[in-house]
Parts: sequence; C-alpha cells; structure tokens
Amino acid sequence: MLEAMRRIIQEVNSAKNLDQALNLIVCRIKQVMKSDVCSIYLSDDAKEQIVLMATDGLLPSAVGRVRLNQNEGLIGYVTSRSEPLNIANATSHPHFKFLPDTGEENYRGFLCVPIVQHRKVFGVISVQQFEERTFKEEELTLLVTIAAQLAGAIAHAEAIGDISGLREGIASHESDKPIKGLPGSAGVSIGCSTVVYPPADLEAVPVRKTQDPDNEVKVFLLAVESTKKELRNLKKRVSQLPEEEQALFEAYLLMLESKSLIQKTLERIREFYCASSALKDTVMEHINLFSSMEDDYLRERAQDIRDLGRRILMHIQSRERSPKNYHSQTILVGQELTASDLMEVPEKKLAGVVCASGSSSSHVAILARALGVPAVMGAIDLPTHQMDNKTLVVDGYQGNIYIDPSARVTDEFSKIIQEENELSVELRGLKHLPPETPDGVTIPLFVNSGLLSDLPASQNSGANGIGLYRTEFPFMTRDRFPSEDEQTKIYKQVLASFSPNPVTLRTLDIGGDKNLAYFPIKEENPFLGWRGIRISLDHPDIFITQIKAMLLASEGYENLNILLPMITSISEIRESKKYIENVYADLISQGHTNITMPKIGAMIEVPSAVYQIDRIAQLVDFISVGTNDLVQYILAVDRNNPDVADLYDNLHPAVIRAVKEIVAGATRNNVDVSVCGEMAGDPASALLLMGMGLNTLSMSLVSLLKVKWVIRSFSFEKAKQLLEEIEQFDDAESVRSYLNAALFEAGLGGLIRPGKN
Ligand code: PEP
Ligand code: MG
Repeated sequence: MLEAMRRIIQEVNSAKNLDQALNLIVCRIKQVMKSDVCSIYLSDDAKEQIVLMATDGLLPSAVGRVRLNQNEGLIGYVTSRSEPLNIANATSHPHFKFLPDTGEENYRGFLCVPIVQHRKVFGVISVQQFEERTFKEEELTLLVTIAAQLAGAIAHAEAIGDISGLREGIASHESDKPIKGLPGSAGVSIGCSTVVYPPADLEAVPVRKTQDPDNEVKVFLLAVESTKKELRNLKKRVSQLPEEEQALFEAYLLMLESKSLIQKTLERIREFYCASSALKDTVMEHINLFSSMEDDYLRERAQDIRDLGRRILMHIQSRERSPKNYHSQTILVGQELTASDLMEVPEKKLAGVVCASGSSSSHVAILARALGVPAVMGAIDLPTHQMDNKTLVVDGYQGNIYIDPSARVTDEFSKIIQEENELSVELRGLKHLPPETPDGVTIPLFVNSGLLSDLPASQNSGANGIGLYRTEFPFMTRDRFPSEDEQTKIYKQVLASFSPNPVTLRTLDIGGDKNLAYFPIKEENPFLGWRGIRISLDHPDIFITQIKAMLLASEGYENLNILLPMITSISEIRESKKYIENVYADLISQGHTNITMPKIGAMIEVPSAVYQIDRIAQLVDFISVGTNDLVQYILAVDRNNPDVADLYDNLHPAVIRAVKEIVAGATRNNVDVSVCGEMAGDPASALLLMGMGLNTLSMSLVSLLKVKWVIRSFSFEKAKQLLEEIEQFDDAESVRSYLNAALFEAGLGGLIRPGKN
C-alpha cells in the first residue's frame, strides 16, 4: 500500500494540471483499492455547493454537472463535518441520498475523506463498492494521505487562478484575482517585474523570452560543450574507480549527444525562448517522462537528467548576460530574496518587492520599508517562473499582487497612489515641526537605518537622530568581513550625517535570517541559535574589530551610542562592557584622546531580559526595545513564517504588557528607553507607546511623519487613557480596531489602511 501511495503521489506530481491530477487520482485509487467507484467532489464556494469533478466508475457525463448542497447526502455530510466516514452499508446511514444523475447503482461499501487545508474544506474523495464492506485501516490512511497532498495542490491552483482547467461550474480564474501574500511594507506601486532566482536551480528558472535567438543558440551550444569537457575531466579523475561507476559519466555524455535533449532545446530557442528557459522545459519534460515509468531503473534516471540539466544550466548562467537592465519601475520578485538582491537594483529604480517566503518582520521587508518601497511577503503560491517581465500591482497594505491587471485594477490603484502622494505632501509639512503632543510632551523621533544610501533621505526627514543602525547590512553586502578601516569609514559617515544628534550603532546582529555567505551557520532552529551578541562574544576577534572601528569613527564626534543585540543574560552585558572599556582605554593610551566613551545600551527583545529589566537597567545607559524579536519570542511565532503570520501581532495584550514592564523598569532606574522595533512605526501601536511614556521612538523612514502626525494630534493624557482602556480586550484584533477608531475620530483616518502596517 505504501509503495502504491508513493507511485500515485509521484504520478500526480508530474501531472500537467489539476484536472489531469484529479483524473489520475480517481483512476489509481480505484485500481489499488479494487473498488467499483472512486470520485472527487470539490466545493464551489460561490454557490455553496459541491460539484463532482472527477470519477472512475460513475457516468463521465455527470462530471461538472452533478451538484449537491453542502449538507446533502453522505458527500455533503462528510464535507460539513470535515471528518472521514467509513461504513459497510451506505444505504442504512440516515444522511444517505441516492444520486441517480451520477449513474450510481446500489453501492453499499462507502469510504469518504475530506480534502482539508488550513481549516478550509476543498471537497472530498469517495470510494464505493457493490458489496457491503468496511474499508481497512490502511486504505483509509492511504486516502487521508492523498487528500492531504491534494489539498495543497488545490489551494495552490486556486491561488494562482489555475483552476480554469476544471470543468464548468467551479469558479474559473478571474483575471483580476490577486495572488495573496502578507503585507510587508505599506504602500502601493505599479511596475514591471524582474524575477531573481537562485543559480543552478532548474525549477526556479522563469519563462523568459529573447529578442536574439542566435545569441541564445550560441550560449546554449557553448554551455553544452563546456559540460562535455567538464564530464570528460570528471571521468578522467575517477578513472581508478570500477567501470560501472565511470559508466555514469559515459551515460551523461551520450545524453548530451542525444537529439531529443539538444534539438528540442534548440527548437524552443528558435521560438524565442532564452537558453535557460528552453533548457528547463526540455529537461523537465524528460524528468516527468522518466519519473512516471514502471521500471525502477528507468525511473531513477530522472535524477541523472536533472543533474545533467543543472550542469548545463550552470554554464549557461555563467555566460548569460545577467538581467541588469532594470526597468525604471522595477518590482523585484523571488521565491526567496535577500537584502543584497534589493541593494543590487539601482537607487530610484526599485518600485516594489514581492517574495514567496518570509513575512513583514523579515529583514527583506524591513529593508523595503527603509527604502520606502511597498512589499508583499509570504506569497506562497507565487508562480515566479511565469512572472518575469510582467506588469504588476503590488498592494503592500493588503498583501496582494495583481499580475497583468486589467485597466480597472490599474486605475483603482493609480488613484490610491495619487491619494498617498497627496498624504505625503501634507505630511511633509510636518517635517520641521517638533514631535510634541498638544499638552506639551516631546517624544523625539529617530530613524532606523542600515544603508549608506538612505542617509541623505534620513537627514532630510526631520528625524532627531539614528535610533538603530543595523551594522550587519554592510557586512551582508560584501564577500568577506569588512576590515577595521572599511568599517571605520562607514561608521564615520553615519555618525557625521547626524552629528551632533545621537546615532546608535548596533553591534553585529547576524544569525537568525541574517546570514553572511562567507560565515555560514547551519542550524535546525536559527532564531533560537547562535545569533547577535552570542556570536560577538564567541568571536572576540570580530567583536573587538567592530568596537574599535566604532570608537575610531567617533573621534571628533560625540554622538556615538553602542547598542547590544539579543541580550539574554546579565553576564553578556558585563562581558561586552568589558571589551568596550578595554578597547576605549587602549585607544586613549595610543593617543586618540578625542574619543568620548560612548553610551552603552541593551536591546530588550528576549523574554528573559524583560524579567531582568531592573538589573539590566542598572548596568546600561539606555534601553532599546526590539519588538520584532520580542513578539516572536513571546508569542512563539516565527517572524519569517507566512503560515503563522496571522498570529504575529505587536498589539497582542501579552506583548503590550511586556513593553509596559520594560518601560516601567527603565523608568524606575532612571534610564532612557526607546522602541526601535517596527511597533514604533505603526500608528496605532505608537499611540500606546506614547501612553506608556517612552522617551523616544525609532522607526523606518516611511513611518516617521505618520507617527509625528499621531504625536501632534493626541495629548499625552489621551494616549494614557487609551492605554488603560485597551486593557479590557483579550486579543490583538480588538485592540487594533479600538485604536483605529480613535485615529479615525481624531481625523487621522488617512493612516489606516487594511493590513497590519
Ligand atoms: C527587533 O528585533 O525589533 C530589532 C529592531 O532588530 P532586528 O529586526 O534587526 O532583529
Ligand atoms: Mg532583533
């Protein structure tokens, strides 16, 4: 049974579309279970019905036509209860209904399982038998397993509008149906997509057309020649191995001579496909063919073809002119994007970011916010391979992406862009006004930064300084650790840009989702692993160099604050301070007498630090609350996982309580406290932070004037009152709608858009 299941899943995976997959499933299950009928019904939500979509055993003409209400018959019964049903005699069940339109006969044995994903029932798979029979446990589990796999495929097909292959009746693809993701960076943009994909990954290669097939033919043939050369060399290198082992390379070389692989790819190139796209199509076709073969030996050959395809692809990619001609309104699209992918797009050309993975608290999203471009994250169903060079609308408020949208959609979003522009013109009027409440409380606003390129805009924003400079970004854009000199130059520019206003440089906070290609860290659970201050203290070489660079950069300026990330224990602060004090003393003794001892602060972003806030406050000069991590650690929700992103909310009452405790602890000990996580830039949350009495707030540039508007519109007393009032709520949604109502009432409705940021 296990083998049968493996085969069915493999076959289904190579089906061309969902329609074909459904037909394959019913046919194979009927064979394996030796039943008389196997059918799949899918829900048609719009009509609140269930439709017969594929069958082996019932009338083929009933497919797409037989519809049941969602509670009708045994099929409706299983759908509404979302629970399997295994009965020997269906006709004796109180919900039994005979369905003559399906051509069904007097079947008795009945097994039916729902197709469910994320609490949504997509339909059912049912098996019927003439004789009375209860199906075996292993048959039930086979069906449950296949239903679970099918649920994922249906959800994906539905999301990308690929359900059109199914017969009439089920809602077909509407051209304006968006692909759903998560809000990553607020705002809306319309632009042209460029897909970024990892090298040597066949599946990831997007469909890309060319104007110059002759050149692509040349690129392809040269890549094939290089692959041959490489294989011959490999063969020579393994000449001491037994002949059978060497035979693999011989087989690869033969495949490279084969007409089907080479000629088919050339034909596709002649149809104006780029060499890599054409190669991908041919290789995938071969892989599917071999994967579905009965013979085990031949089936295994699919892997060889994949390997060979990858080798050729690598050579093509090393020759291909990389798509560096970014469109003036580039929307960067990828399964996984990195901070450096974003930074590669020339300034002013990046108009949006769309990523199939991650969430609003991933660093790519944070960077998008720093750059002021809308982003949608965690769009799991993104058909990236079909998305190159398309017109896209990115709705960073709702987390929606529209591919090749209709004029109606573009018009609608152009209007929103227009409104946004008007709002930012209005907000710009606040630039030089103080961040002061109507009852006279000033809450200085700082920016979060990490790029040198965003410094001019930050300087020009009316910010009171830099509250968080993420030093890891310059580390991420290099192929080795930056030297002391290089770091000194960067930090000097940052300090100079805001001098004499304070600039907080955070020591290296790598690990988690911020990796350095040249310092790989492999962990099962990186967010609970080796990150932030833990790495710095384990690598005094890296830490001391960085501290030295920071202090040297501050020579002549007196505005440096040093912030320590991911503090979980008091000893980490003590040790870090020791290093900083030693480096300082060394530099003074070497004659750098113009350096002032910087203020040292701790980030509070881990629950253990919340509970030790008094001890921490007594050891440092300031506290900065990193709500991005604090939320993930308090709520046990991975900040990068789109599947649980709905649970990640900085307005969760437990998070609010934790931040309150931190502020109270810092205040008790007369230490300045700031929030530098994204919570500070969310207008609704900012209201609560004001009420808590935060001394300063630090945020992405795009949020600065919005939050200033909030501060200038609400008195400190009103903010305190709101903070008390939200105590009555048990969940983040209620808190948010209460605060949004307050913003709306105060005439700040323009700041409220659906979505969390
Ligand atoms: C935070 O965790 O809130 C924070 C500001 O740091 P980062 O997002 O870089 O982890
Ligand atoms: Mg953090």
